[in-house]
Amino acid sequence: MSHIDLFRTRNYIAGEWIDSARHYSVNDPATGQKLADVACAGADEANAAIAAAGLAGASWRRQLARDRGQVLRRWSQLMIERRDDLAALLTAEQGKPLAEARGEVAYAASFLEWFAEEGRRAYGEVVPTHKAGARVIVTKEPVGVVGAITPWNFPLAMVTRKVGAALAAGCTMVLKPSEETPLSAFALAVLGEQAGVPPGVFNVVSGDAPAIGQAVMASELVRKISFTGSTRVGKLLMRQASDTLKRVSLELGGNAPFIVFDDADIEAAVAGAIASKFRNAGQTCVCVNRFLVQDGIHDRFVERFAEAIRALKVAPGDAAGSEIGPLINAAALAKVERHVADAKGLGARVVVGGQPHALGGTFYQPTLLTEASPAMQFAQEETFGPIAACFRFRTDDEAIALANDTPFGLSAYFYSRDLARVWDVSERLQVGMVGVNEGLISTEVAPFGGVKESGMGREGSSHGLDDYLNLKYVLLGGL
Ligand code: ADP
Repeated sequence: MSHIDLFRTRNYIAGEWIDSARHYSVNDPATGQKLADVACAGADEANAAIAAAGLAGASWRRQLARDRGQVLRRWSQLMIERRDDLAALLTAEQGKPLAEARGEVAYAASFLEWFAEEGRRAYGEVVPTHKAGARVIVTKEPVGVVGAITPWNFPLAMVTRKVGAALAAGCTMVLKPSEETPLSAFALAVLGEQAGVPPGVFNVVSGDAPAIGQAVMASELVRKISFTGSTRVGKLLMRQASDTLKRVSLELGGNAPFIVFDDADIEAAVAGAIASKFRNAGQTCVCVNRFLVQDGIHDRFVERFAEAIRALKVAPGDAAGSEIGPLINAAALAKVERHVADAKGLGARVVVGGQPHALGGTFYQPTLLTEASPAMQFAQEETFGPIAACFRFRTDDEAIALANDTPFGLSAYFYSRDLARVWDVSERLQVGMVGVNEGLISTEVAPFGGVKESGMGREGSSHGLDDYLNLKYVLLGGL
């Protein structure tokens, strides 16, 4: 990967690439081979980055929204121009099929473009006054320095979704990407610099996660934290945020149900099921974790779903036609094996797969289980792997109760052609996002986020900017 001119292995602070005394290795999950020795940032690097972001913020927030937008638009265009190189880096460190990596580059770039436009629309208000000789004005101001912590499953898109909104709003950022996938974040910083992001406005520090996290959370300069990752770490950060009362946006785990009602278009449901379950080998927070299938359609759905799963091609991400790559690491594989063993022990039937893949390493067979029940681990916990488990239900009430029987509330999907049912079920699902007769819902134009223990705040859409803006009320008197 070092032949790609976007390849960097040091942390990006105040526009400089800074080495550290310690290093850690980033590996290719498809082969286990080392891709890079990366400088391991800790509290010192994090504090330097926070200081740089604080300094840079003074002028960045004063720039015209249009000028900030132009930088973001150029950044987005550079991502598209460098799509192949970004995708190659992404697949190398993350493992997803190259076609998906290319898709992610475009998806990631779309957030920078979107917020380049939205930044100019952070309108305030003039409120009808309550007092003669005075006017009530409400403005929106950037919150200040933002700490962002992102996961490995979308090494580019989870970053741009935050940095696009933050920079458009006039904030500056310290980003801590996942240590599994820092190379994509560094590559993004290279392009940001080329696009004209001033030094200190966007900083990237990767290494000792708890140490960096603690420095960011303890800092009084950092006024907001935006996190995407596990509910466990999200709760920890929210606790840590209370000491300085930072604003908090959390995009955490899900346990998405996918309900197939008797009146569903079965072919559409199978296509949606494949797309929303097996993308990124099942490693996305909006991936289906539980298929709930109504009695009358159950066996036909399972039969067609099984055929489609058998046809999926498992191969390293850079192999031609790959549809399922390796899991990110050994711990991810262990979790999948644990969930499948637990389900089998509790009476699940393996229809397809159910074993590590013959390719070895962290490859796992796309798997279909039936006779799933709420006692099984995946009913309460995200599997984050290529396992489709089918529950059988009879009535709508039963399906809704099952769907909502989880502490999470990120996304849900269902297939039905009955308008009254579509409306009723959409309203009763306790989630932030619903796909009706659609298996892929993510887009920069719609608000992404959850309820319950899936988090708070929304990313993308016209609402995404609000997470990075404070309202200020000015009473203009003496008129
Ligand atoms: P996952 O299980 O998807 O890896 P994590 O929540 O562990 O989810 O990781 C998401 C991000 O949170 C990563 O960037 C990781 O380094 C970071 N992280 C993990 N532990 C901490 C911590 N104690 N403080 C701050 N960030 C952390």
